[in-house]
Order: sequence, then C-alpha cells, then structure tokens
Amino acid sequence: MVFIDIHSHLDILPNIPKVIQDAVKANILIFGAGIDKKSNRKLIELASKYKQVKSCLGIYPTDSLKLSDKEFKEELEFIKKNKPCAISEVGIDLKESPETTLEKQKKRFLEFLKLAKELNIPIIIHSRKAEKQIVELLEEFNYDKVIMHCFSGNFKLVKKIIENKWYFSIPTNVKHSEHFQKIIELAPITHLFCETDSPFLHPDKKRNNVPLNVIESYKKIAEIKKIPLKKVESQIEKNYKSLFNC
Ligand SMILES: [Zn+2]
Repeated sequence: MVFIDIHSHLDILPNIPKVIQDAVKANILIFGAGIDKKSNRKLIELASKYKQVKSCLGIYPTDSLKLSDKEFKEELEFIKKNKPCAISEVGIDLKESPETTLEKQKKRFLEFLKLAKELNIPIIIHSRKAEKQIVELLEEFNYDKVIMHCFSGNFKLVKKIIENKWYFSIPTNVKHSEHFQKIIELAPITHLFCETDSPFLHPDKKRNNVPLNVIESYKKIAEIKKIPLKKVESQIEKNYKSLFNC
C-alpha cells in the first residue's frame, strides 16, 4: 500500500527529517517540486538521501522571469543532466506577473515542454489567470504526460482536460473547496493524483501543511466516487506506474 503526494515543497518545510519520517510511517511517497536553482539542488540532495523522496525539477513561472536567457538555459541543462522524475513546477502565472510578460512566459514554458518530451517524463503545471492559454499551448504542442496541479480554471477547460486525457492533482484543500470536489466528480479516477502543495493549501486552512495530510485528498475522492479508500489508493498507484518511469 502506498499513498502519493505528487506535489510538495518539501525543501522549504520546517523539520524535514521529521516530515519524512512521518511520511515513511504512513507509506507516503513524496514528490518534491523544484521551483528555482536553490530548491532544485536541495531536492536532488533529499532524493539521494531518502528513498521515499522523488525529485521533480523546474522553475516557477515568476522565478523564471528573474533569470536572463543564459541563466535560464544553464538551469535547463542542469535539470536535464539530473534526470528528474517529472518537470515541476512550471507554467504561466498572470496573477503575480503582468500581462506584458506573457510572451516570455510562453516561450519558457515551451522549453520545459520540449524537455519533458525529450526525457519522456510528466510535466506538472502551474497556471494562474492563464488557464486558457496553457490548455491551448498544450493542445498545440501535443504532449500527453500532463498533470494539472491545483487547477482553478473554469469547467469548460476542465472538460477539455478530461477529453485530452491529461491528469489532475487534487490538493488537500479540497476538503472545503467545491471547485476541487466538482473536478473529482467529473474526472475519471484513472486520471487523478493527490497533492498537498505543502506548506500551502492545508486541508483546514492552517499553517504548514505536510505530506502526511495527503490522505485528506484520498478520502475526499473515496467519498465523492463512493468507493473504498483502499481502491482509491490502489488506482492512484496504478496511475503513477503507468505515467512515471521513476
Ligand atoms: Zn506548488
């Protein structure tokens, strides 16, 4: 039996050894999401130290904007060399960055898509106020190992994502979020993952979410799909084995 937290900012959590120890006890695999140079390196280190930890590497959209073309290229090379489990967390963010950055963000996101395709690994996507642009870019690019992290776009887009057979990862704040509960209702369980996005998105809106809480997303899927928790766990493990090669 294994539970999977497909997206955690493990590298910035307080008391990492304890967090990992708790996850090990509960049979939780932790996928750390790299967002910049520092966190990519830290996650590689954690993944080599703990077999329960997998490293997903990338550059967060707003962090990417701070890099020159040369720096961006160098980090892309670094990521390629270090063979991540997935590319994460990348995409387009027009909430924290102005519309004028859209073209640059698109260009860099495409570089990550090319890299994911080249390495044949999943890409875990962040999109804020740019969900439509992201879906269009993905359709044009035609790569299907796609996981939409914490997707808050409208239901027309949700339906497109389902038609395209991409995956959703359901964050732990689903406990009190009708939006994510509706996604569970609509998407087939063969295309769902669970995540904590820890330290963010605590199920009860407290501080410092941890991978241990990923069980809350599993429970909500079991409740909404009306199937036993054990079945949710085994199906998501199947999803993981069919999509990932690490
Ligand atoms: Zn995140």
